[in-house]
Amino acid sequence: MNDTVATADRSIVVIEDEEAIRDVIEWNLQREGFDVSTARDGRAGLDLVRSAAPQLVVLDLMLPELDGLDVCRAMRADAAMREIPVIMLTAKGDESDIVLGLGVGADDYVSKPFSPKELVARVQAVLRRNRGSVPAEENGAASEPEDTADPDQRRVELGGVIVDPARHEVLVDGVDVRLTRTELRLLHALLRSPGRVFSREQLVVRVMGDNAWVTDRTIDVHVRAVRRKLDTHAEVVETIRGVGYRARDPRD
Ligand code: CA
Repeated sequence: MNDTVATADRSIVVIEDEEAIRDVIEWNLQREGFDVSTARDGRAGLDLVRSAAPQLVVLDLMLPELDGLDVCRAMRADAAMREIPVIMLTAKGDESDIVLGLGVGADDYVSKPFSPKELVARVQAVLRRNRGSVPAEENGAASEPEDTADPDQRRVELGGVIVDPARHEVLVDGVDVRLTRTELRLLHALLRSPGRVFSREQLVVRVMGDNAWVTDRTIDVHVRAVRRKLDTHAEVVETIRGVGYRARDPRD
């Protein structure tokens, strides 16, 4: 079945300095049909991502030369690498690492020690939910009339905040604000239904896909990041205590 998928569509870069862990990840991903290339420090890893343009990056947090946070930041600041999903490997139970990792634009994280099966499942989940988010001008959907367009790609606007998933664009009072893919998805899900209260579980499903490993806590971290980036418009995303979140126009 994997033979029907082009190798280029299954390419993954693994950046991990511990040889034993790197080998385990490489072996398990290759067994699932992925084309894996590896690097053992952050600088070499960043160069490899730039040249290989993989479908996904598995990125250890603690790395020589350039740590995982710096690698992720550099990727998100570079138009050629901005869209490549990143799964961060963090130390077990270290919540500050998780918060930092998601804050610099990682799409998901796996805490060490992890089972290879879990990592492979996460990789597949992230690739699944990133499929179909190709910019409209690249998949020819740009000319489709508004009412038949994919609702997941529809441009929404509330309280001076515009989210345009097809263009991967967020405008706050006309100013371009850079959100990670996951943050954009979260904000879009809320703004599509202004006033509607979403539980964290509902947002997990809408934003992360059907991924049983993602915790409610992850949504809180993403909401915090979204609010920080919306700055003066942070109140567009309102916390409903004990329930979850909703979008509202602060001027109403
Ligand atoms: Ca390490």
